[in-house]
Amino acid sequence: MANAQDHPFQLTNTLSRKKEPFIPLNPPHVGLYVCGPTVYSDVHLGNVRSFLTFDVLVRWLRHIGYTVRYVRNITDVGHLVGDEDAGEDKIAKRARLEQLEPMEIVQKYTNGFHDVMRLFNILPPSIEPTATGHLIEQIDMIERIMANGYAYEVNGSVYFDVPKYAEKHAYGELSGRKIDELVANTRGTEGQDEKRSPLDFALWKKAEKGHLMHWPSPWGEGFPGWHLECSAMSTKYLGQTFDIHGGGMDLKFPHHECEIAQSVAADGHAPVRYWMHGNMLTVNGRKMAKSEGNGFTPEELISGNHKLLERGYSAMTVRFFMLQCHYASTLDFSNAAMQAAEKGLQRLMAANEVLKGFTAKTPSAPSSAAEGFDVEALANACHAAMNDDLNTPVMIAQLFEGVRAINGAKAGTVALSQADIDTLRKLYDAMLFAVLGLREEAGTKQDEGLDAGLMDVLLGLRADAKNRKDFATSDLIRDKLAALGITVKDTKEGVVWERS
Ligand code: ZN
Repeated sequence: MANAQDHPFQLTNTLSRKKEPFIPLNPPHVGLYVCGPTVYSDVHLGNVRSFLTFDVLVRWLRHIGYTVRYVRNITDVGHLVGDEDAGEDKIAKRARLEQLEPMEIVQKYTNGFHDVMRLFNILPPSIEPTATGHLIEQIDMIERIMANGYAYEVNGSVYFDVPKYAEKHAYGELSGRKIDELVANTRGTEGQDEKRSPLDFALWKKAEKGHLMHWPSPWGEGFPGWHLECSAMSTKYLGQTFDIHGGGMDLKFPHHECEIAQSVAADGHAPVRYWMHGNMLTVNGRKMAKSEGNGFTPEELISGNHKLLERGYSAMTVRFFMLQCHYASTLDFSNAAMQAAEKGLQRLMAANEVLKGFTAKTPSAPSSAAEGFDVEALANACHAAMNDDLNTPVMIAQLFEGVRAINGAKAGTVALSQADIDTLRKLYDAMLFAVLGLREEAGTKQDEGLDAGLMDVLLGLRADAKNRKDFATSDLIRDKLAALGITVKDTKEGVVWERS
């Protein structure tokens, strides 16, 4: 925790629109809530990016000494098609299409979601509550909101009274929307349903005839509104006010705005101290969407089985690619960018293997002209980058700086002490695996180990030939490798090779 006090972790708070030092309510404990999936379809890659952002947040908080209670829900009821307050439930609709029970749909896509999370090495939450498992808490919260005068019942449904709430509270403060503009935008739809104002949103909906999923309530048979579950479950597990709430940018409005209103109306407290939103994933510059034909699934990305993919990419390549971009920036997916990420990841993993292989004496004795390298400064820079609003791209750039030193030490052009090597080994182990959450991918690692071994043999023979001034043989080795697409270069750091 020493580091946490020297250079506190800073986080961009969507609510204040500023980067702020992170000060938890009850250190070293941190309460974190992240909106989970609605389990009615396969997870798409944009969702993976969002869950990955909060995975790295959890990993970093734990790395700097906090204990995190991480709650991520499963929406298994109440999220209606088009995110509206009327129409079919997304899960019920899919159940009809697939001719399954709604709870079979829930289980099927929850299992699929967990498989994808494991594939990308995204840690499970501490608690994964479901909306259907928390109906009592949701009904209870509606009653508190009604008792405070911020909700009304019409024909067995209960609506949140937004204009009344906005008289005293800042509705729109999170998303930066103004209530007058919101009213202007909804003009024309007034009087089309039973709400007093088109801005009002459902807390409870009466189940119409034929509606598959419904429960008893003080207002009759029905089901909860989509925004309510997150308020009820975060309050239950993290308290009326907790540290961090995260989600994708698309959830800022109305979902998160409504969560704030519900908690303030029910309990009189703003629920969240730091709001955090991850940005979108685009494909070749366009928003990723099924309707655009560019919304591939994680499975398609790995198999390469999609018209936009030149080939497949490993799960860790995808993870690394996403982490090379700051979570608050849009990330554009392209084959070229994926291939660059793949190469970069291989370089880092290869350097980590070199580090693991270093013995008590550095393999090549540094020449008298060897440069030094400040390992402490590198470790501090990695830490500082992560403490600066989880700046993973800058941290990764630092790790690449270190690769130069590691390869230089191997070649004898950079002088590292045994203590330096131990520090680097610890740093790379922590940053690559614990913090970035990368995983060694067995197949590629073995192939690479073999490649590296064979290349060492060949380049050793070439160096011997050169020493004997047998340039015909050394050139022959270089040319034959070039014909195989392997470029050999003599640099001041020694001989290096790469695939072209
Ligand atoms: Zn939510």
